[in-house]
Amino acid sequence: MFDTLSDRLSSVFKKFSGQKRLTEENVQEGLREVRLALLEADVNFKVVKQFIDRVRDKCLGQDVLKGLNPAQQVIKIVNDEMIELLGGETTGLDLRGQQPYVIMMVGLQGSGKTTSTGKLANHLRKSKMRPYLAPADVYRPAAIDQLKTLAAQLDLPVYDSTVQMNPVDIARNAVAAAREQQCNVVILDTAGRLHIDETLMQELVAIKEAVAPQEILFVADAMTGQDAVTVADAFNNALDITGVVLTKMDGDARGGAALSIKTVTGKSVKFVGMGEKLSDLEVFHPDRIASRILGMGDVLTLIEKAQTTIKEEEAEELGRKMQRAEFDFEDFRTQMRRMRKLGSLESIMKLIPGMGALREKLGDMQVPEKEMVRIEAIINSMTRQERRQPILMNTSRKERIARGAGTTVKEVDKLLSNFEGMRQMMKQVMGGGKKKKGKMPQL
Ligand code: GDP
Repeated sequence: MFDTLSDRLSSVFKKFSGQKRLTEENVQEGLREVRLALLEADVNFKVVKQFIDRVRDKCLGQDVLKGLNPAQQVIKIVNDEMIELLGGETTGLDLRGQQPYVIMMVGLQGSGKTTSTGKLANHLRKSKMRPYLAPADVYRPAAIDQLKTLAAQLDLPVYDSTVQMNPVDIARNAVAAAREQQCNVVILDTAGRLHIDETLMQELVAIKEAVAPQEILFVADAMTGQDAVTVADAFNNALDITGVVLTKMDGDARGGAALSIKTVTGKSVKFVGMGEKLSDLEVFHPDRIASRILGMGDVLTLIEKAQTTIKEEEAEELGRKMQRAEFDFEDFRTQMRRMRKLGSLESIMKLIPGMGALREKLGDMQVPEKEMVRIEAIINSMTRQERRQPILMNTSRKERIARGAGTTVKEVDKLLSNFEGMRQMMKQVMGGGKKKKGKMPQL
């Protein structure tokens, strides 16, 4: 999904990477292309204008984050604004008050409403809810059968609606039946039409008044782009919807609906449909989607880390220590703890000045979690002095450390010798010492 937009944006970012700093000129030029990319993705033009204005203001008024180049800065700003566009925080269902809760599914015919009703039931059941399904589309017999079939597949109770019944009665009776059967959430599949239709809206309003749903989810077909947004707006005006389910995102290369709905309707996308199967429903996470659109997951994580974790001075100090082979077990443990919180050793390495060359030599440096725990236990069992001066290590110290860490002297020895190898390697690469081709010793 979002493939086209991703491709366009990454070529814009590439252009920024050749620049030394952000100027009014290069920002204007870059943003012109971002604007085109968004319009091509079928994002609402008013939304595009607002977006571009905000990004431009931020780019030009930005306190430059130390250590980020212009491309990285632009990516960060675009990413932050993109998350806002997609709705900011992840908003799940808001089910509170009297049980059974009621979730009313509304939308046009063919949008994926009935399928999404089944998917949502499946999703809720996984989080230990007891869903009850209620087909209320009495105008399309096939819709009732379709939901009954889905209920059978999921082995969930379903209200035995017929086309002769009145939808408001179905809704009321289904809630009563759910309560009787100790189900705590009713998902109501309402009727759809091909177009917005006054009679239908009145019927939906009557259902809403009868059962006071906690959630009214508008189901929209993402592939219909701006039409989906217009229809969402109309449903919202009539029913004050609580959120949106965007279906068929698996086939949507453009992403216009996802990027416009929140700004236009003020309501967030809560779920996305990613396929036809009952398991193909995902909670909508604006931050993850934004980074998928930008196709810059790695860069963004790096930027976040640069902001929040390693302070520049600290990184420089570390670099100096490495150069002089003074990097000790205290430093190593600090970095390792950080890594475990943040991810791979590789991503930390990127932040240390001059480490690029070392990284190239080392290749993939992911140390498995279990291994890290083991190594940390050994380091923890050393005294502070031993961590600072591994040279002090003798047999009785090693024995004590091994006992403390629940391991063998052999393992302690292995760590010590690999650590020394790593220090030498760092010294060579960082300090421009005699360069030898070699492999990073395995810790
Ligand atoms: P309704 O008329 O709104 O109830 O729509 P349906 O639930 O019957 O769905 C219409 C068609 O869209 C069916 O063929 C579904 O399998 C398909 N569909 C629904 N959601 C998705 C989705 O997320 N991805 C894909 N690829 N197809 C979907």
